[in-house]
Amino acid sequence: MLKPGSTIGILGGGQLGRMLAIEGARLGYRCVGFAPEGDNVAAALCAEFVTARWDDTAALAAFAAQCDAITYEFENVPLSVFDTLPVEAVFPPRKALEVAQDRLTEKRFVERLGGRPALHAAVDSRADLVEAIDRIGAPGILKTRRQGYDGKGQWRIQSAHDAESVQLSDGPAVYEGFVDFAAEFSVILVRGQDGEVRFWESARNEHQDGILATSSLPAGETIAAQVDETHPLAKAVADALDYVGVLTLEFFATKKGPVFNEMAPRVHNSGHWTIEGAVTSQFANHMRAVAGLPLGDTATVAESVTMTNLIGKESGRAQALLGEPDTHLHLYGKKQARAGRKMGHVTRLTRPNRPTGPARQTQP
Ligand code: AMP
Repeated sequence: MLKPGSTIGILGGGQLGRMLAIEGARLGYRCVGFAPEGDNVAAALCAEFVTARWDDTAALAAFAAQCDAITYEFENVPLSVFDTLPVEAVFPPRKALEVAQDRLTEKRFVERLGGRPALHAAVDSRADLVEAIDRIGAPGILKTRRQGYDGKGQWRIQSAHDAESVQLSDGPAVYEGFVDFAAEFSVILVRGQDGEVRFWESARNEHQDGILATSSLPAGETIAAQVDETHPLAKAVADALDYVGVLTLEFFATKKGPVFNEMAPRVHNSGHWTIEGAVTSQFANHMRAVAGLPLGDTATVAESVTMTNLIGKESGRAQALLGEPDTHLHLYGKKQARAGRKMGHVTRLTRPNRPTGPARQTQP
């Protein structure tokens, strides 16, 4: 167990790091961040923030020297970074990133443990793509194996003709058959240093243009009927990686049961609702796991929860939402709004025994 006052390093400077640093501070830890130049919104919440390139080994070594434990909020941290860090201090372990950074490795890893991904094939050339479409069929999605996120690095393939025109210059890719799903959900768990695993309730995720728009609970019958089946798989993945921290697996709920989409070795956007909607949030439990503390209760505290992402320019209007009952606004402090950029999120809850009207005002 890390003593209060110990230092936890966070690799990556985005909103996830920001929300982790808030929880680290609540637990009495000193959080320090490390990321290359950029709009590092975690910096404002860290006691210290190192801005340096991932290949700056001197800066990394100096950063590591002041950390009692190190975690990451960004899954594209280059693996070479871990050569400079003390292995025993890094949670989740490097292996988790190694698997999750490559869509094909990830699918094979999960498949070996009994999971069912969409039909897929490795695509390294146009000939591979033609063959993959022939075998798997169209429609489908061509995805870069590395670096893709929020729908980036993905191309819809409507028919075999598209194989001739689609861009193939972004490195190795994977072609997946289009999954005819009824709903999407994610399974979020936390695993402690002693191997204990706890799950949060699975929310229904709705995406727009490949970006998460909302996560809501209750998730509905279709999802509820399939979640239990995914828990042993998610636990097996965490155990196989000797995982410590929060792990997310995304699934499609289909007529034939859950189909694995992808995993993230970190706290996840679809778990932001847990900040107000669960006894212990994903951020708090991640930091507890990293620090070797007992894990907190993951139970949902509300009858219904909806987390809505504020994407692009929407965040300016969001402050007005603060007047609404049981509505919680999180803005990430990003300097520039851009189309598709996550600027913040809002969580609305309904709870038993809570008034739903506007709060009573006291006259001055
Ligand atoms: P990803 O980055 O792989 O999570 O994809 C982003 C979103 O695109 C998913 O959450 C789905 O809504 C959609 N999507 C991705 N892959 C597929 C697929 N094989 N079939 C249907 N929809 C997909």
